[in-house]
Amino acid sequence: MKKLENFDWIHSFFELGPDFFQAKAPDPVAAPYLIDGNPDAATLIGLDPAEFKRQEFVEYFSGNRPLPGAQPLAMDYSGHQFGMYNPRLGDGRGLLLGAIQNGSPHTWDIYLKGCGPTRYARGFDGRATLRASIREYLGGEAVHGLGIPTTRSLAIIGIGELVFRETPQPGALLVRLSDTHVRFGSFENFHYTNRPEAVTQLADYVIEHHYPELKNEANKYQLLFRSVMHKTAALIAQWQAVGFIHGVMNTDNMTLTGATFDYGPFGFMDRFNPDFTPNHTDGHGRYAFGRQAEIGHWNLAKLGETLIHLITPEVITEELEHYQPTFNRFYNELMGQKLGLEILDSEFTTLVGILFNVLYQNQVDYTLFFRNLSAFPGEVPVALRQGFNNPKDLDDWLEMYRKLIEREDPGLEERKESMNRVNPRFILRNYLLERAIDKALKQADYSEVERLRILLQDPYNNRPEIFSQYGIDPEWYAAETPESHIEMKLSCSA
Ligand code: AMP
Ligand code: MG
Repeated sequence: MKKLENFDWIHSFFELGPDFFQAKAPDPVAAPYLIDGNPDAATLIGLDPAEFKRQEFVEYFSGNRPLPGAQPLAMDYSGHQFGMYNPRLGDGRGLLLGAIQNGSPHTWDIYLKGCGPTRYARGFDGRATLRASIREYLGGEAVHGLGIPTTRSLAIIGIGELVFRETPQPGALLVRLSDTHVRFGSFENFHYTNRPEAVTQLADYVIEHHYPELKNEANKYQLLFRSVMHKTAALIAQWQAVGFIHGVMNTDNMTLTGATFDYGPFGFMDRFNPDFTPNHTDGHGRYAFGRQAEIGHWNLAKLGETLIHLITPEVITEELEHYQPTFNRFYNELMGQKLGLEILDSEFTTLVGILFNVLYQNQVDYTLFFRNLSAFPGEVPVALRQGFNNPKDLDDWLEMYRKLIEREDPGLEERKESMNRVNPRFILRNYLLERAIDKALKQADYSEVERLRILLQDPYNNRPEIFSQYGIDPEWYAAETPESHIEMKLSCSA
């Protein structure tokens, strides 16, 4: 376990040279204080969780004191936002401090978000609201709890200053960990400014640090693109299986390692609805739940374009043709696990198709449906039936489902256990998150942030001892979203 001053820093991104970033220290803040520290994430970088309690923790990570060994830099990138190319993005308010290797297969970048304007700030203030920082902090941990690749959250630090959005709000800083901060947009930035050597340099960097097994392959760039395609397809299949909507799948929010990245107006689906997006500003539903897989393909095509001096367009097109089948394979496997079925044939596909239609028609809570289903065929739980306006829809579907279960005939208990291992009981419903934010903003009470962090570490199980220690009533937290808060919309700046 390390103290803050004793990290073994790695500065590989810094070594790429000044074309790739602006070196800059975080700007000091008025009065930093710890809002929440996450011991789970501390373990990833070998940091002693007791370090959260030192005043130096908030001093170092707020920019009030230089963190020994860190080499802060703002990365340059561009990207397609809602389908339109924006040549000027880059880290406007975030800084990469360096990376730590703590015996894990990859390094963890340590990154501050909200630490003052950089060269890329485009007139914005470089700060983050406490509201947005809490959302990203808990979003990352909730997605991790579901076993989905994501950035992790080390801490939230209040800055003791107001930041101005629609209204003045308390400002904060997020300390985030990620296996990489290289985005599709990092490649686009150099491609569209006609700097193919820099694209190559970046591709070599990504291979070296994230796909070292490809290093000596003759067609390593093609294999890199294929690997990113696989990881992206796998990621989005996992989002679809749990009902996660990213909300802003711009190419600057897609990493080269296929992790969930940059949590803004994200959400989990309440009632099954493919057209839903929690992003208030996405009027056309470009990033709606049912379009995420297709957008993954679109974004990969944009990444592919940046590699045309390394891979021929024909090869890129050929690789891209494998995206949809790859996604379908991952997705079917996940749906099979959710339904406790192993034979993934055309009858299974029909069963899933009809299920989605039935869930949509009956406006049933997506998460609770699967969780309750594990008791079938032993019984049809009351809770399962309750959600349906038309119970016959459920009964007809259950008859089809029963046939597919019987043809596999796994033990009832075993099926139930395996289904409960993949179908969460608790998800980060936006109304739960709003409640935690409300308490933080109105009462400076951060206990609900901590409670949700603890709850979502393991969204599958009741943990009576831990729950009673943190005052968590599992029934309440597992409940369906109240009618008044169904399909809540959020703005990007919120
Ligand atoms: P995001 O919505 O966080 O993915 O940010 C999109 C782009 O806007 C990135 O280039 C950010 O660095 C930049 N940005 C967002 N908010 C701010 C801010 N308050 N100050 C400076 N840059 C910002
Ligand atoms: Mg972003």
